[in-house]
Amino acid sequence: MTNHELFQRAQQLMPGGVNSPVRAFKSVGGEPFFTVRADGAYLWDVEGKRYIDYVGSWGPMIVGHNHPKVREAVERAVRDGLSFGTPCPAEITMAETIIKLVPSIDMVRMVNSGTEATMSAIRLARGATGRSKIVKFEGCYHGHGDSFLVKAGSGALTFGVPTSPGVPKANADLTLTLPYNDLAAAQALFAEHGSDIAGLIIEPVAGNMNCIPPKDGYLKDLRDLCTRHGALLIFDEVMTGFRVALGGAQAYYGVKPDLTTFGKIIGGGMPVGAYGGRRDLMEQIAPAGPIYQAGTLSGNPVAMAAGLAMLELIQAPGFYDTLAAHTRLLTDGLQSVADGEGIPFSTNRVGGMFGLFFTHEKVHSYAQATAADTALFNRFFHGMLERGVYLAPSAFEAGFLSSAHSDEDLAATLDAARAAMRQARA
Ligand code: PLP
Repeated sequence: MTNHELFQRAQQLMPGGVNSPVRAFKSVGGEPFFTVRADGAYLWDVEGKRYIDYVGSWGPMIVGHNHPKVREAVERAVRDGLSFGTPCPAEITMAETIIKLVPSIDMVRMVNSGTEATMSAIRLARGATGRSKIVKFEGCYHGHGDSFLVKAGSGALTFGVPTSPGVPKANADLTLTLPYNDLAAAQALFAEHGSDIAGLIIEPVAGNMNCIPPKDGYLKDLRDLCTRHGALLIFDEVMTGFRVALGGAQAYYGVKPDLTTFGKIIGGGMPVGAYGGRRDLMEQIAPAGPIYQAGTLSGNPVAMAAGLAMLELIQAPGFYDTLAAHTRLLTDGLQSVADGEGIPFSTNRVGGMFGLFFTHEKVHSYAQATAADTALFNRFFHGMLERGVYLAPSAFEAGFLSSAHSDEDLAATLDAARAAMRQARA
């Protein structure tokens, strides 16, 4: 079967033909390809075409696809059974590893996705503070929990409005929305609502409106604001955790949140999430405390084995230096290709994540990201895809490098980019 035939069939069987919306290519147009195999830096589709992959399963595959150490750990675990429903020793090793690597974490709870982690973290924030409002940032994504599918209402300090039918207005009223990288807006919001705010949740490097790093001192200022108003600071490190640095964005920027959420890399490609933080907060989670949260498959032995193998690999000396250097080679290379072609272009990058924008400006905000030329991005995306390079199929997603991307892969990517930019501009 061809990609097209499979997509026709899939659309009859699953909403939009997919199990997660962005995979359907709606943002860039055209039809998705169907992957049958992945190895190292590459995906192969059902028609046998190979792609250099800069999506990495949306972040988890930081050591490349199908890494033998991760695969062997999973194979070993599978021999002993798929799920026990009792505690298992690998959960302890996982907790010890996360606590060792991420300084703000005293205790951790494993869940099955990033969405579960963020939903649980805000329940904990509300339960622990006795307050009901949460603050999020426009353009940040924290999974599909009702409280997060909310955008800013009209006017800077209004309550949020749902972005999806099915999210009750009463729920959206409890979510306050701020512009990212705008400290004055956060100060004004806390001045008005500070005593009602249970927690502020942020992607410490935004990765769901393309890639936008925090301005100097911004995260620390948010830390101080939360502390002053008795609100919890929650870093959603589902994407940035073990991606921008071994200790996540909080280690990279030297800011300590009260709670942190994880996903993606800690599962090694299996469905895993986690949340953790201060002991006095985490001890309020059931059964140690009264705040309820549970999961049939949480701490699953096969998932723990995959995640642990991954966390071991990324602790290799120099891992993040090499990853960041490669990411820089890629973004600098793309910048000079664009400059050579006279195309307005800028990039952002932190550790192993990057963003590409078709604009002259350095991008610090959601407004700038949405003002960049998305039509040009979409043409560029298809030009790259034709040439066997798979970028995220949306102008509003970060890109990811893995340790499996070689110098040759980067050079091939830049060659493809030169031709794709020329074609996209025309
Ligand atoms: N938080 C962030 C920052 C994410 O990027 C994502 C997913 O992309 C999530 C939460 C939700 O994670 P999941 O898709 O595993 O539910």
